Amino acid sequence: MKRVLMFSEGNKEMHQLLGGKGAGLAEMTKLGLPVPKGFTITTAAYLAFEKNGNKIAQNLMQEIINTLSNMEKEVNKSFGNIKAPLLISVRSGAPVSMPGMMDTVLNIGLNDQTVEALGKLTNDERFAYDSYRRLLQMFGNVVYGIPEKKFERVLCDIKKIKNYNTDLSLTVDDLKMVIEKFKQIYLLERKRTFPQDPQEQLSAAINAVFLSWNNKRAKIYRKKNGISDKLGTAVNVQEMVFGNAGEFSGTGVIFSRSPSTGARGMYGEYLANAQGEDIVAGGRTPVALERLKRSMPKVYAKLAAMSNKLEQHYHDMQDIEFTIERGEIYLLQARAGKRTSAAAIKIAVDLVNEGIIEKEEGLLRVSPETLEQMLHPDFDQKELQKEVVLATGRPASPGAASGRVYFTAAAAKKAYEKGQEVILVRQNTAADDIEGMVVSEGLVTARGGMTSHAAVVARGLGIVAVVGVNELEIDEQKKIIRINQTVLREGEWLSADGTTGKLYVGKVRTVRATVNKEFSQFLRWAKTAAKVEIYANADTTTDLKAALNFGAEGIGLVRTEHMFFKAQRLHQLRALILAQNAKERDVPLQRLAEMQQEDFYKLYKVAKGKTVTIRLLDAPLHEFLPTTEPEIALIAAQNGRSKGYIQARIAELKETNPMMGHRGCRLAVSFPEIYEMQVEAIILAALKANAEGVRTVPHIMLPLVSLAQEMDWMRDLLDKKVNKLFEKNNVILNYKIGTMIETPRACLIADQIADKADFFSFGTNDLTQLTFGYSRDDIGAFVPEYLNKKILPDDPFQVLDTEGVGRLIKLAIAQGRKNNTALPIGVCGEVGGDPRATAFFERNNITYLSCSPYRVPLVLLRMAQEHLDKRKRDNSIDTQIKK
Ligand code: ADP
Ligand code: MG
Ligand code: MG
Repeated sequence: MKRVLMFSEGNKEMHQLLGGKGAGLAEMTKLGLPVPKGFTITTAAYLAFEKNGNKIAQNLMQEIINTLSNMEKEVNKSFGNIKAPLLISVRSGAPVSMPGMMDTVLNIGLNDQTVEALGKLTNDERFAYDSYRRLLQMFGNVVYGIPEKKFERVLCDIKKIKNYNTDLSLTVDDLKMVIEKFKQIYLLERKRTFPQDPQEQLSAAINAVFLSWNNKRAKIYRKKNGISDKLGTAVNVQEMVFGNAGEFSGTGVIFSRSPSTGARGMYGEYLANAQGEDIVAGGRTPVALERLKRSMPKVYAKLAAMSNKLEQHYHDMQDIEFTIERGEIYLLQARAGKRTSAAAIKIAVDLVNEGIIEKEEGLLRVSPETLEQMLHPDFDQKELQKEVVLATGRPASPGAASGRVYFTAAAAKKAYEKGQEVILVRQNTAADDIEGMVVSEGLVTARGGMTSHAAVVARGLGIVAVVGVNELEIDEQKKIIRINQTVLREGEWLSADGTTGKLYVGKVRTVRATVNKEFSQFLRWAKTAAKVEIYANADTTTDLKAALNFGAEGIGLVRTEHMFFKAQRLHQLRALILAQNAKERDVPLQRLAEMQQEDFYKLYKVAKGKTVTIRLLDAPLHEFLPTTEPEIALIAAQNGRSKGYIQARIAELKETNPMMGHRGCRLAVSFPEIYEMQVEAIILAALKANAEGVRTVPHIMLPLVSLAQEMDWMRDLLDKKVNKLFEKNNVILNYKIGTMIETPRACLIADQIADKADFFSFGTNDLTQLTFGYSRDDIGAFVPEYLNKKILPDDPFQVLDTEGVGRLIKLAIAQGRKNNTALPIGVCGEVGGDPRATAFFERNNITYLSCSPYRVPLVLLRMAQEHLDKRKRDNSIDTQIKK
């Protein structure tokens, strides 16, 4: 098998073998776009290299040399030739894009002779020597591992002595001197010389780029992004085009849409008279693309047309590297652009609306976690108005971040491990800092643009980034930063707004992000695509409003016990529990009924006819009783009892294992008045809402039922109560009484329970607890060991145990629907966020899932994707059968 392929031999489907970059270069070549000639050494070759003890085998090198000589014929130049020297780049490129994590060497083929030839050929000596010093710099760093700083210092010093502002002022003589100094650095640092033989440069560069697959930052990046260490990288060898050949040359990066917001239209940065590395490595701050539009309008128009063409071809937003050599534009890379959550959603929605992709495809493009990230907090606008803007940089990755400033990746990591929130402040926007970025809330840099690799990585990680803050001076030694007049020491607070690029001293308050137009359209599509309905667990109108905003169908679980903890209510409830007879219970019950009625009425009004499922009280009684001396004294006084009486009552109610004690519907067997009171509140609230035109069907849910007889008894009690209310008010109303299924016994006899229940809802927490016999509050003592020793695959309270608990659920579903195939069956629990659980519930025909409001978007999308995937799988089975 060939291990070296010309760009003209590949295509976009081959990214596994050619790497993303190689496949992209091949595809662009096929499309007839201006791509410098070249070839790709495959990932298979890399794997062989690794197997061979990290050495390039003789026969592979031969294959490379043969392909190179084919390329020489095509471009009519040859490697090392002193009349028409071929110059090349050696570029990394893995199957999964890892921006800036591996290495690349440019300008290979230059040496003391060819540099002169290049100068004569182009009639531009300065350009030739500039390219040579760049080669020495990159080769020294990548192949010999000489720190970048050593070379930078030489450049800095000479600029200082000569009073130059930029590299562009360096003359031919300056550059020749720099080159001499660089050669000395090789000797000093590594006791080696720069290889004059181009062939030797090439094989050393390939070797080093292969090895960069396993450098530290690449490994960290793979780990963070769940990319396999086994893939390996391809290497691309490509003819050089020169962005550093004068004022009509330059380099840049564009995105076919904004990677920060998703806004339509080409978006990017440009540096005149520079090579690509200057931008992507984040050491120089480029200018906006507008500048290119002004200086070379025709080239700009061509670039815009190609950006469009590539987006149409790939059906996705593209990240494109280009270089202009003396007015001629070349494309050097195209890939699906990394983007923020906000951009991911907007782009998916826009591509669908523009007819570029189907709605289903749009839904599959966005990961469910992205939706959650989308809801990360923003700075409170009111607070911001009071703050003084310290400086403004480039808004490279949006959002709000406050943290303590640290100046190195290592210090950031240490602070993070101590539990601090961190803002990493750096000179350059460099990908080397990945280790610090993954632990930081935000990144702030003095130099570098929004298209640099590190900015791309920040957007992918979802951390805030403000880059290229000109006023920022960093003193790593003294551990301080200076911005205009302000000085901040290490560990002091800084806030960065990645949406506006503004910096503020101190910590600024944040608020929850809101849903924008595209987000809600996306959620509506997800809702249509999902077969399972999504409800929210909500006890307040605020929670309900948020949930409805996210597309919830209503409330799947109101936990009424949460409504009793307010002081006034707790007092009434305590009076109720402490009462000795039904008569004494009357007053507190009436008070509580009024309060609950108001609660439910408010929920019904906001729900506007959508389902609100109210669970009757489920809490161990003693939770409502006073525990401290003063509390007991107060309660005694309030209820006209002695302290001794109260203490005795508390002792009576004390349980050894409250989770398995006097709670749920068991409580109502002892104190039927409580459930009757709640049902009265529910019905009266619904009647009131109905009278006001809000059509409401109350859903009443009983907790912790295990026996068919319990269900019968409760149903009887509550139906009677409801009928009395109907008679009294001379109206009737449709209502449902359902039950939680949360004990193993309930699962086993679900058919009997179903006879009296209008709906089921699984409570996965209690069901897991009772199925395993694990007390949820005590698992800390043993579950970690189980996980360590791999006796348990996961914490069953985090990841649904589909094998055991799941088997009970399946049984209960089958039994429950035996006589009523349409029985609605839901799940309320946080397992909705676990992808394995969602797949399980989709397969087993669950009617709805209920989760906390801010999880609704994630679960909604997960269920939509689950269903779309299932349809795809079913279709492919269909076609297989047809064949
Ligand atoms: P990375 O994966 O770090 O982006 P690349 O291989 O893309 O590494 O190269 C780094 C920079 O060098 C990019 O800006 C790229 O466009 C530029 N570059 C690579 N090869 C060439 C070439 N043959 N001619 C001109 N510029 C190049
Ligand atoms: Mg690149
Ligand atoms: Mg429960």
